[in-house]
Amino acid sequence: MGKDSRIEWTHHTFNPWWGCVKVSAACDHCYAETWAKRLGEGLWGPHTPRRFFSDAHWKEPLKWNKDAARDKVRRRVFCASMADVFENRPDLVEARRRLLNLIDQTPNLDWLLLTKRIHLVRKQLPKGYDFPKNVWLGATVEDQATANKRIKHLLEFSSPSVRFLSCEPLLSAVDLAPYFSPNEKGNRVDWVIAGGESGPHSRPMDPAWPVALQRQCARAKVPFHFKQWGHWAPVDQVADILKKSTPIRVLRQDGSEVSVAAIGKSKAGRVLAGKHWDQFPRTVV
Ligand code: SF4
Repeated sequence: MGKDSRIEWTHHTFNPWWGCVKVSAACDHCYAETWAKRLGEGLWGPHTPRRFFSDAHWKEPLKWNKDAARDKVRRRVFCASMADVFENRPDLVEARRRLLNLIDQTPNLDWLLLTKRIHLVRKQLPKGYDFPKNVWLGATVEDQATANKRIKHLLEFSSPSVRFLSCEPLLSAVDLAPYFSPNEKGNRVDWVIAGGESGPHSRPMDPAWPVALQRQCARAKVPFHFKQWGHWAPVDQVADILKKSTPIRVLRQDGSEVSVAAIGKSKAGRVLAGKHWDQFPRTVV
């Protein structure tokens, strides 16, 4: 949380509150829960309290907005790294209303609202509310089942300037091609982010999965951003730094094999098919 985020795809992160409930396999090793626990905060689960913040915290994006206006550049804000903006609880209604007002007051910032509860978004918004153009609405998709379940809800929204997917942690191969064609409202997926899982219990990602996503995006001319390999990297890509003791796992039961090594997120890096993928959608605000 705060200024100068280290996440490559955003400039700032802002949390309207902390705390959440796990909803799908992508949440199994939720880093936000681990981080909160490390700080002694028990904020995960349906019956635990959420953590709310002071007025000073809420003023930070106003400053980022001023800075962006002064520098004549748009800056992206990832909201929320320690919560899900569309969790359904009565005690979150007021903070969510405050967040929507803040988004209105910061037209030089693009707000990335990423959720695993995309089916609840309409219900959680005030009646008649349309997202302003400085909202990029996103859904997390970790496998084909969540893609099929969630993307149709994302594409219901015409007002955000970008509809995006975060395929992280990517847990299986996913075919996104059907969602790159405009639906009956003229909406399609405008941007795809992909990445593997990081942290001690991470599940390995078959390198073929992000490669396939990149190719699907290229064919449909949809910008693609590869965020990270995560904890496991393809052995052939990191062979020169492997130690004898590095755990190696061989994936695939179909006769073909791919070896991935538990090397840690920073060493694994983010080179995919020989390059960094840092594509972003073009927007007009
Ligand atoms: S929705 Fe996000 S914040 Fe909530 S438990 Fe899942 S991964 Fe964690």
